[in-house]
Amino acid sequence: MLKYLYLLMAVLLCSCNSNTSSPEAASLIIKNGSIYTANDSQPNAKIIAVKDDIIIYVGDDESQIPKNDNTQVIDLNGKTLTPGFIEGHGHILGIGYNELNIDLLNVKNYDELLELVEDAVSKAEPGQWIVGRGWHQSKWTPQPEILVKGFQTHNNLSAISPDNPILLRHASGHASFANAKAMEIAGVTASTERELSETLKEGEGGEIIIDTDGNPTGIFTERATGLVAKFIPKNDRDQDKKALKMAQEACLKLGITGFHDAGQNRQVIDLLQELKAEDELPVRMYIMLTGFDESLLNEWYQKGPMVDSAKHTLDIRSIKLNCDGALGSRGAWLLEPYSDREGHYGHETLPMSFVESTSKKALQNGFQVCAHAIGDRANREILDRYEIAFNSYPEKVNNHRFRIEHAQHLNLDDIGRFAELGVIPAMQAIHMASDRPWAIDRLGEQRIIEGAYVWQKLLQTGVKIVNGTDAPVEPLDPLPSFYASVSRRTLAGTPEGGYEPDQKMTRDQALKSYTIWPAYGAFMENEKGTIEVGKLADFTVFDKDIMTISEDDILKTKVSMTIIGGKIKYQAN
Ligand SMILES: [Zn+2]
Repeated sequence: MLKYLYLLMAVLLCSCNSNTSSPEAASLIIKNGSIYTANDSQPNAKIIAVKDDIIIYVGDDESQIPKNDNTQVIDLNGKTLTPGFIEGHGHILGIGYNELNIDLLNVKNYDELLELVEDAVSKAEPGQWIVGRGWHQSKWTPQPEILVKGFQTHNNLSAISPDNPILLRHASGHASFANAKAMEIAGVTASTERELSETLKEGEGGEIIIDTDGNPTGIFTERATGLVAKFIPKNDRDQDKKALKMAQEACLKLGITGFHDAGQNRQVIDLLQELKAEDELPVRMYIMLTGFDESLLNEWYQKGPMVDSAKHTLDIRSIKLNCDGALGSRGAWLLEPYSDREGHYGHETLPMSFVESTSKKALQNGFQVCAHAIGDRANREILDRYEIAFNSYPEKVNNHRFRIEHAQHLNLDDIGRFAELGVIPAMQAIHMASDRPWAIDRLGEQRIIEGAYVWQKLLQTGVKIVNGTDAPVEPLDPLPSFYASVSRRTLAGTPEGGYEPDQKMTRDQALKSYTIWPAYGAFMENEKGTIEVGKLADFTVFDKDIMTISEDDILKTKVSMTIIGGKIKYQAN
């Protein structure tokens, strides 16, 4: 009886408000497409309704949705809608600067790199630094004639720019390439390599690669890059802010509604807060504090996490630690030597004691730790340190959400430990597509097959994988990474059946790895990541059905629309 009374009241309320703004009426209805919710209890729907920024209806019956004259309707015209895609590991400022600096991601060989640099030199002021990022010598064809430890040498680069200093970052960010002018400014000479081992503190890897005569070749790995990079004039605030805005625009165009930033410093955090206050932060940002600045960490331990629990516009409750190098530059830290460099194991890039102490402090103060680990040794060491911290504070571990970023190469004995310890692997599937063809040279067949990018082995233990691109290490577009997740092929489509095909993700798993699992990896699974009543209305609309089309067609798919908080933030023409 009471129920009918309420219904009657609701009808009365509706009818008297029907031409104004009924508080119950949907502000947005979306229909006529394929809707995938990533919610197992209701995987598909025909219609979604949104009130302001919250989903109020998911189902098949439009008559159940209260409307008024202001209700906007989006007709999908057969397109496909998913929960808003979340980039689970990227570098927002780097993405912005990639748009501002020389982008070397697509150069196919040394000559193409030289062409782009020559063009920049011709436009530069005398003596101005020229910076760029994205080269990757292992992917070049043809390979340069002269290689030292697998890298090109600076002579050709120096010849085209005798007066402008140049520093070009490797795509992985773990090595740099300088010309003679830059090395002259930095005071790097034949004797610097000998001095370097004394300059860098223990556990801080880095190398100046030298030729057989002992002369530097222009390649600096890991922290040795700093010897040159410190002479590049600092970017000013306005430039940084411009880069951040450009990166946000880039996200919206690619359907990205949330972004996990893998390590930020004080200045950028200030700028992000400024942008939030100015309402210029459309993509929901999840920021990891850089572990390179201990005073920054201490400051945040004091004040505690910053969580915007309703909107998650800008959350800070995470710490990024960089624990080893990359595989390309042979910096990834391995249990057994590299297959293509005798006696070389790679190295840690910070002391493991720091990982342990940071993990303990993070647990005590409510922070998550996200540690970068690529090699199997680095992964094992991090799991060990996490475990020590968890055992030290058992009362704090029920919701720690500690992550390992990349988790690329695992020893068989460590795969099950992720689930046992509740550690989340954040793995960028696109790295497999890019690296797998040459990673086998570094690791050999057995290690590749047993433990490289073993998504299915990990998923079967019950963990959730956070996907992403590591942009600007790889292009930010999530679709190539989605494609790599389900095909385990390179972007050129090889090999036909995929590398280690039993490790492919299903479409459903790949969708979750870009939606609900990264939401979980950022403590946001109750507000984001699936299409469910009560959650934030973040959606990505694709022009093809990525859940059913052929693998090749995934790479031809375009984002049609990006909706964040019930508002259209990007629409393709
Ligand atoms: Zn990264």
